Amino acid sequence: MQLFSIFGNPVSHSRSPLMHNSVFTNLHYNACYTRTLLEDGTKLKEIFFALGLSGANVTVPHKEAAFNACDEVRGFAKTVGVVNTLINENNRLIGYNTDADGFMYAIEEFTNVQNILILGAGGTAKALATRFKQDDLDVTILNRSKEILPYFDELGCITSTWDTFTLNKFDLVVNATSAGLKDENLPAPQEIIESILNATNYVADAIYGKLTPFLQLAKEKNIIYKDGADMLLGQGVLANELFVNASLEKEAIKREMQKSFLL
Ligand code: NDP
Repeated sequence: MQLFSIFGNPVSHSRSPLMHNSVFTNLHYNACYTRTLLEDGTKLKEIFFALGLSGANVTVPHKEAAFNACDEVRGFAKTVGVVNTLINENNRLIGYNTDADGFMYAIEEFTNVQNILILGAGGTAKALATRFKQDDLDVTILNRSKEILPYFDELGCITSTWDTFTLNKFDLVVNATSAGLKDENLPAPQEIIESILNATNYVADAIYGKLTPFLQLAKEKNIIYKDGADMLLGQGVLANELFVNASLEKEAIKREMQKSFLL
């Protein structure tokens, strides 16, 4: 039996074991997925091999440590320097990033999206902005503080803080801040958020498992929205494909993984 795990701190809340075990069990793939609390990110590689893992996911705060732990990093993970999926390939640790493509997968049904506003400038915003720019999309970043904005300037994004923001018409607005995760905060002052929502077609939030105040406002304004569950599903489907080395159908993986969201 193959063994997989998720590394994080905290990790007890993670839905990944449910998602991946639902696929393994229902599609009769001989594997089991556990969770591992990792306090020291520099120990990731050692613990991965000591546990005899075939693969793993990595969550907050170890995604950059995972990048550094890899013998080889492939695809988009190389561009952003952030790894969320690890594969044991002949005892070499190979790193991938399925977060950003998972988000693209999640918003496939949103049509004519060219001009995107990202609220936030942390790790998720960085991955999404980099991925959007690969598709030549127009990206604006609005963040509470200005220290991390130069990364986005170099990427070719329009950047601003709450004080310098000027309103534009956006096709999609993404909340990539943690505002609303453990509190009832909006990702920016209410008057800014209201004006943004009045000029957008679609809204997405990276946070899942609750209707954030941001999504609540979008809902009240009858804007088409989705929470972070589809992003979570998207990255999970792509990670599972890597785990099973493409031996299962992507649509079947998605179907079985989706069922775990009802548990
Ligand atoms: P980071 O800690 O890297 O970045 C947090 C960002 O949120 C920063 O831009 C920070 O601004 C901003 N922020 C925090 N609190 C507030 C606030 N009260 N008001 C306005 N801005 C605020 O986090 P991540 O990028 O890793 O994660 C962001 C969110 O995305 C989290 O809620 C996480 O749970 C979610 N997520 C969901 C995933 C999914 O699969 N659905 C996958 C990954 C993440 P500042 O720079 O000023 O501090």
